[in-house]
Amino acid sequence: MQPIRTFNVSPSLPASLEPLRQLAYNLYWDWNTEIKELFRRLDRDLWEATRHNPVALLARVSQSRLQEVAADDGFLAHMERAVGELNTYLHDRSWYKHKRANNVGKECFAYFCAEFGLVDCLPIYSGGLGVLAGDHLKSASDLGLPLVAVGLLYQKGYFAQYLNAEGWQQERYPVNDFHNIPVQLERKPDGSELRIAVEYPGRMVYARVWRVQVGVVPLYLLDTNIEPNSAYDQDITDALYGGDLDTRIHQEIMLGIGGFRALEALGHKPSVYHMNEGHSGFLILEHIRVLMQRDGLSFVEARQVAQSTQIFTTHTPVSAGFDLFPPDKTIYYVGHYAGIYGLSKDDFMGLGRENAADLNSPFSMAALAMKTSSFVNGVAKLHGVVSREMFQNMWKDVPIDEVPITSVTNGVHARSCVAKSVQELYDRYLGPEWSEKSIEDPIWHKMDAIPDEELWRNHEHSRSEMVVYVRDRIVSHLKERGATLAEINHAQEALDPGVLTIGFARRFATYKRATLFLRNLERIKKILVGNKERKVQFVIAGKAHPKDIPGKALIRDIVHFTRSEGMNSVVFVPDYDIYVSRVMVAGCDIWLNTPRRPHEASGTSGMKAAMNGLPNLSILDGWWDEADYVRTGWPIGHGELYSDEDYQDSVEANAFYDLLEQEIVPLFYDRDKEGLPRKWIAKMKDAIRLNCPTFNTARMLRDYATVGYFPASDRNHVVTDNHYQAGKDLAHWKQKMLKHWGDLKVHTVDVSAPEDINVNQSISVKSLIQLGSLEPHDVQVELYKGAVDTNGKIVNADTTVMTYQGRDGNGNSLYTSEIAYAASGLQGLSLRVLPHHPHLSNPYELGSILWA
Ligand SMILES: *Cc1c(COP(=O)(O)O)cnc(C)c1O
Repeated sequence: MQPIRTFNVSPSLPASLEPLRQLAYNLYWDWNTEIKELFRRLDRDLWEATRHNPVALLARVSQSRLQEVAADDGFLAHMERAVGELNTYLHDRSWYKHKRANNVGKECFAYFCAEFGLVDCLPIYSGGLGVLAGDHLKSASDLGLPLVAVGLLYQKGYFAQYLNAEGWQQERYPVNDFHNIPVQLERKPDGSELRIAVEYPGRMVYARVWRVQVGVVPLYLLDTNIEPNSAYDQDITDALYGGDLDTRIHQEIMLGIGGFRALEALGHKPSVYHMNEGHSGFLILEHIRVLMQRDGLSFVEARQVAQSTQIFTTHTPVSAGFDLFPPDKTIYYVGHYAGIYGLSKDDFMGLGRENAADLNSPFSMAALAMKTSSFVNGVAKLHGVVSREMFQNMWKDVPIDEVPITSVTNGVHARSCVAKSVQELYDRYLGPEWSEKSIEDPIWHKMDAIPDEELWRNHEHSRSEMVVYVRDRIVSHLKERGATLAEINHAQEALDPGVLTIGFARRFATYKRATLFLRNLERIKKILVGNKERKVQFVIAGKAHPKDIPGKALIRDIVHFTRSEGMNSVVFVPDYDIYVSRVMVAGCDIWLNTPRRPHEASGTSGMKAAMNGLPNLSILDGWWDEADYVRTGWPIGHGELYSDEDYQDSVEANAFYDLLEQEIVPLFYDRDKEGLPRKWIAKMKDAIRLNCPTFNTARMLRDYATVGYFPASDRNHVVTDNHYQAGKDLAHWKQKMLKHWGDLKVHTVDVSAPEDINVNQSISVKSLIQLGSLEPHDVQVELYKGAVDTNGKIVNADTTVMTYQGRDGNGNSLYTSEIAYAASGLQGLSLRVLPHHPHLSNPYELGSILWA
C-alpha cells in the first residue's frame, strides 16, 4: 500500500530533555564515553536493538521512560555533564588555530570519498577505506581543521551478512530510514530543501543534501531518491558499490560533480580538494569548468589553477583495482566537458589516460586524479614504493625514487577503537591527552606506571566480554536461520574465555588469504588442542563482496572446517561491522594478518588491535612493514616474494605454525606466581607505547595538514590572487616550457678528475648547455651522483644544484659546481636539467627532464 501522505514524526521530548536531541545529532557521542553512556543509560536494550543509534533510540523510547528520566536528578546531572563535554569539545579545538593563526577563516579543505565508516548505525561503508575516511573526519575535528567532507547517502548502504546452512554468505540490504539515523537535511533559508542539479545524458538529475555532524566537521551526503528524478535516477544512490559499470559512473558523477556543486550551494569555498581514492575524480572536470565559465580562464589556465589545489590519495596496490571506464562510455557520460573545454575527444580522453597517446586505453580515474593533482600519496611507506613503480611510466625519465608520489601512512582514531575500560586505564595513568600525543611526547614513558596486573585483568575482562558477545551474536543468527537446537547449544559453548585467542577480521578478498591458517590441517589441529593447558582458539569475521565467489568460498571453507571437527575453538562471527571490530580488537590476544605482499596497501585493523595492547602477527606488508614488528609482535616471513604462489603459501603457513608453536604459545602461557604472563604484558605495553602514537589518525591528519593541505592552500592563494594572475602566468610558462623543451641541449660536461679518486677529493664540473629560447631562471641544472649498482645504474643519488656563470660567445650557458664523494667504491655522476618555477608543487609537474 502506498501512503497518500507521509509525515516526519519527531519524538516529543519533555522540554528538560531537549539537549538529548543536540547530543544525538553530533557523532561526537561515538568517541566521548560520557555521552555514549548517557544514551545507554536511557534504555540499555533499545540502545543495543537500534545498533547504538541515539536518534532511533529517542524515537522509540517509551514516553513513560522519558517521563521517568526527566524526573531523575542523577540522569539530568549526567545529561548536563554530557552537554558540557560537547560544548567544551566544540570550542576547544586548538591545534589548527595555533599552526595557521594567520589563515583562520580564510581556508577550507574539502575531502571527498565514496564511503564513510563512522559508526555502526550508519552503514555507508564496506571496509577499510570507509573506516579510514570516517577516522579522518574524527581526527580532523579533534585538531580543529576547517575540513568539510562529501559523500553519498546510500538508501541501502552496504549489505548485512548472514550464512546459510552450508556456510555460504547471503546478503540482505536493510533500508536506511534517513529520518531515524543521525543525519539532517540541509535547507535553504526559506525552509525548503536545498537541492543541486547535475546534467546526465539527456536529462537533469537532482539531489538533496544530508548533513552528518562529526564534531566540528560537517559531512555532506547526496541523495537522489527524490522526485522528479526517474526511478533509475532515484536509484543512483541506492547501494554502495552496487549495480554495473553504468551505475558506477552515475554514482561517481554525482559524487564528484554533484558534490562540488553541493559545497558551492552551501556557501563553502574550498581552497583544497582532497580526493580520497579516485571515485570522486570527476570533481576535477567541474572544477575546471567553473574556473573557465565563471572566472573566464582558458582551459590551460583553469587546469593549472585546479591542479595547484588538488590532492589525491591512492589506496590500491594493483592496477586492476582502479576504476577504468571504456572510451565510449566516458564520452557518452562526461564528453560534454570536452566541448566546454574546447578539446577534441582524444585530447579530453587523454586527461584520464596514463599514456595520452594510447587512443584505445580506457579512462582511468586514478590517472585523471594523478595528472591533475599537485600532491599524490600512497597510504604506507611500502605502498608508496609500489605506487611509484606502478605509475612510473607517467614520469618517464624521472628516477623511480623521485616519482612524485609520496606516502602518508594510515592511522586509526584512538578514542573510537580503544575499548572503554582500556581508555579509562590510559586516562588514569597517562593523562587524558594520550589519544593525540606524538611518539616524542614524554607521556609514553608513563606506560610503565600501569601495573601489569591491572592491564592484564582488564584485558582478560575484555576477552570474556568478547566471548559472551560472540556467542550471543552467533546464536541469534542461528535462530534466525532456523538452525537445530543442537547447533544452537553448540554455539552457546563456543570459545573458552581463558584461552589464547587469535583474531582475524577484514574483508574476505582472496589476497588476504583468510584460510592460510588451515593450510596444514594436522598441524593446526594440534595447535588448537594444545598440550593440556595451552590451547589456542580463533575468532574470525568478515564479508566478501557479493560478486566475489572465491572470497565467499573462503568463508564456507572456514565454516566447514569448524563443523567437520565439531570444534568450538574456531568461530566465524557473522555480519562484521564497526561494532564487531571494536569488540574483537579489544578481546583477542593476537591480531593475525596474512595478505599476499604487497597487496595490502596499509591495513588498519591491526593498528586498532595494537592500541588495545594486542601484539600483531602478520606478513610484512602495509603498515606492519614499517612498524617495530619485533618488539610489538611477530613478522611472518621476511617479506620475500616467490614466483610460485602455492609455494609461497606453504612457506608462510609453516612460518606461522612455527611461530605459534615455538614462541607465541609458550610466551602466552608462561605465568608467574601471581598468574601473570609478565613477558607477554611487556610486549603489550610496547605495542601500545610504540604503535598508538604512530598509527594514529591524529598523527596522520597532522601529516596531511603539514605536507598536503597547508602547502596546497598556500598555492591556492598564490594562483588565485589578483584575478588568477600567478595561476595564469604559471600555465603560460608551462606551455612555453613544453614548446621549447626540445631545444635544450647539454653540449659538454667537463670533469676535472682522473678515474681514480679519493673520498672527499674535490672535483670541479663544468657544463655548457644550450638553453634555446629558455631563460636561465626557467631551469635548474643539477649534478646527480651516487653509487653504481650491479645493473650499472646510479642508486641512492643525491643532487647538487650547479651555478649559472653566464653565456659564452656561442650563446651557450656555462654552469659550474664542485663536488666530492663521501663514500668509496664505484660511484657514478650524471647531469640533468629540470624545469624551475617558484609556484610549481614539484619539479616533475611537467614530466620534463633532460639527462646528459
Ligand atoms: C578497521 C576495519 C576494516 C579494515 O581492516 P583491514 O585490517 O584494513 O582489512 C574493515 N572493516 C571494518 C568494519 C573495520 O572496522
